[in-house]
Amino acid sequence: MDFNDLPLLPRLRQNVAASGYTNPTPIQRSAIPVVLDGRDLLGCAQTGTGKTAAFALPILQHLALEPIGGSRLPRALILTPTRELALQIGEQFEHFGKGLPVRCAVIFGGVNQNPQVEALKRGIDVLVACPGRLWDLMNQGFVALDKLEIFVLDEADRMLDMGFIHDVKRIIAKLPRQRQTLLFSATMPPEVEELALSLLKNPETVKVDPVSTPVEAIEQKLFYVDKANKKFLLAQLLSRPEVENCLVFSKTKHGADRIVRELKRAGIDADAIHGDKSQTARQRALSRFKSGESRVLVATDIAARGLDIAGLSHVINYDQPMEPEAYIHRIGRTGRAGKTGVAWSFCCVDELKQLNQVEKLIGKRLPSQEHNWPMEITTPSEPQPRMPRGERVAKVNRRGEAVVTKPQNKSASGKTPTHAQAPAGRAPAQRITIGGGGRVQPSGESRKQMPAPVRRVNSAHQARIKRADT
Ligand code: AMP
Repeated sequence: MDFNDLPLLPRLRQNVAASGYTNPTPIQRSAIPVVLDGRDLLGCAQTGTGKTAAFALPILQHLALEPIGGSRLPRALILTPTRELALQIGEQFEHFGKGLPVRCAVIFGGVNQNPQVEALKRGIDVLVACPGRLWDLMNQGFVALDKLEIFVLDEADRMLDMGFIHDVKRIIAKLPRQRQTLLFSATMPPEVEELALSLLKNPETVKVDPVSTPVEAIEQKLFYVDKANKKFLLAQLLSRPEVENCLVFSKTKHGADRIVRELKRAGIDADAIHGDKSQTARQRALSRFKSGESRVLVATDIAARGLDIAGLSHVINYDQPMEPEAYIHRIGRTGRAGKTGVAWSFCCVDELKQLNQVEKLIGKRLPSQEHNWPMEITTPSEPQPRMPRGERVAKVNRRGEAVVTKPQNKSASGKTPTHAQAPAGRAPAQRITIGGGGRVQPSGESRKQMPAPVRRVNSAHQARIKRADT
């Protein structure tokens, strides 16, 4: 089937062809006729399946074929959880809508509201919005949704995860009852099912790539590596010529910034994208990456959700994801819409549990890859209990390890305690030094101080045996 088999306007087909799409993806094939028919839709699809065009094309067609006169109030509303996703959806509406009498605006928080208010005042047909800012502008009287005909709730599961559901429900309560509703969600937890039941009337259900199925086109590899050596392995992998561009996933925002600093030290240009960055910085990082100016983008899970980067060659999971489902979302950034892609995952001893969860979810073991920094530390580090105020760690050293500054905690003899005398429940930080050949190894001194003997193994294979024991 190609796009000519779908009952789309010639102008839309032309714009689709200009994007380089030849065949509709499965969700487009199933959803476009349903939406054109005016029916409600429940779409179970993750990002990367082409779901944006699956709703944008029929919505544009409807608005273009049935223009209404008078004041230009929004006729279609797309609610989406993140600013990046809102901008990407807006871009697709602009692109597919070229040459059609349809106007679109995108609104989201974290930026000055005035340009958004101006766009609303000029009159629009399609409004793409994040719930917080939309609710805010509705309350200020800048958005009237009485003429709304089509409502799209995008990434419903993520809306719940991110705590937006309250705003979403308040907005829905203000929409006209007579409307067409489309709900998209990558997963179907009971809360989303409940929401779908309350919103959709006799919907058609379209399921594509349920979240527990990994994208088959993606070549997945696992690298067992000690935490302190991850940066060296990352720099080496990124220097491979086949890595055209790479999205690197970090568990935390600080971690993402640290990875960027370390890459820059290794002479690799990279940007970080996460929730603590300003909207301008995020946009700049994204456009540098999209234009090929920088090859590496380091992101947290939330910031990367929904990023649409065409032709991404590699994804690297620098840290294992906290939730196994995030693995699917992460690797779904590469190999999009039928393209091949590569996903490499790092795993240190403290992440074996998360790795097991990922492998359970995808129903297979990730093949491990030999490399220059095989995992050597196979004893998980002890959890660090929270310290009482006066003793709290105030600084980290250059290697990112905790350094206790005060008090000095002298023993009765006036000497600093040895490991055996360390405060109960708190193991001394394992110190490491940079050894020959750039390898990071425990120093002789710290080896003496380690809370438990460190068993050394020479290959990832042995590490896997250890994992099977746990
Ligand atoms: P989405 O799931 O809407 O975020 O789309 C994921 C990616 O697939 C985007 O980069 C689109 O440009 C691309 N895409 C969408 N539909 C098609 C298609 N029919 N053929 C090729 N690429 C597509």
